[in-house]
Amino acid sequence: MFGIGKNTWVKSAVATVASVVASVSIVLLLVPLLGGHPDGPGFWMSVFCPLVIGGPASLWQFHQKDIIVRQRDELARMHVELEDMHSELSRLHEDLRFRARRDALTGGLNREALFSALGALARTHRGPATLLVADADHFKRINDVFGHLAGDEALRRIAACIAEMTTGGDIWGRIGGEEFVVFLHSSGAERAGVIADAIRRAVAAIDLTVDGKSVSVTVSIGAASVVDAFDPVDLFRRADEYLYRAKGGGRDRIVLDGRELDPLPV
Ligand code: GH3
Ligand code: MG
Ligand code: MG
Repeated sequence: MFGIGKNTWVKSAVATVASVVASVSIVLLLVPLLGGHPDGPGFWMSVFCPLVIGGPASLWQFHQKDIIVRQRDELARMHVELEDMHSELSRLHEDLRFRARRDALTGGLNREALFSALGALARTHRGPATLLVADADHFKRINDVFGHLAGDEALRRIAACIAEMTTGGDIWGRIGGEEFVVFLHSSGAERAGVIADAIRRAVAAIDLTVDGKSVSVTVSIGAASVVDAFDPVDLFRRADEYLYRAKGGGRDRIVLDGRELDPLPV
């Protein structure tokens, strides 16, 4: 009734009866002590006053308390909801940050993220390292003959070969159409040569067929090594120059520090 719950009415009725009892008891005790008689209008006033004052007042108070309890519960629920939304937002933010650094096709770092990671690494790096620049051979032909989707799949497979041959400490990414960069964190020239050749072989062994026809995928790799601190721009320029030489030498090969690498025995 009046938007007031049944419980509130009951609690208010109990409080009113209690105040009537208290009021009547006080009158019955105190009035004789003061030399009077607790009867007539005086007695009825002790019943009537708590009824008309205590009744509505307790009803109002219990009702207000109900409202506060309901609002507190609602606030607690909203708080939980807000916390859920906040963690969802943090997750989305993290996801967005991750995506912004990644190349959607291959899952490697994109150009900006890779060069920024390389720049940051160069500031603290000490010891041997090697940078590889790998470029798919005659890739335009793959697109022209087998279609762009086949080309995309070939890029994904090349990326998978790179990911398989590198470790967590290395960084790699796609810096352009069919060009990949791999930074081998603590690999000097010799070890880098082994890894680069493993990548080259794995790519050449990619088994990709379109409409029953086999797609031949190979990469040429330019590799530049350092023995200690390095300048990332200079290192990239060197590796790129060696890549150019690998292309000129016939493709599907590696030029490491200016020298063509003989394919290693399997
Ligand atoms: P080279 O051996 O000298 O590197 O020859 P190439 O044909 O690989 O090099 P070129 O630069 O002439 O062509 C690169 C081709 O790569 C052209 C472009 O259509 C293709 N390409 C670039 N990005 C993508 C991509 O994301 N997906 C596909 N499918 N093709 C791409
Ligand atoms: Mg190419
Ligand atoms: Mg290219």
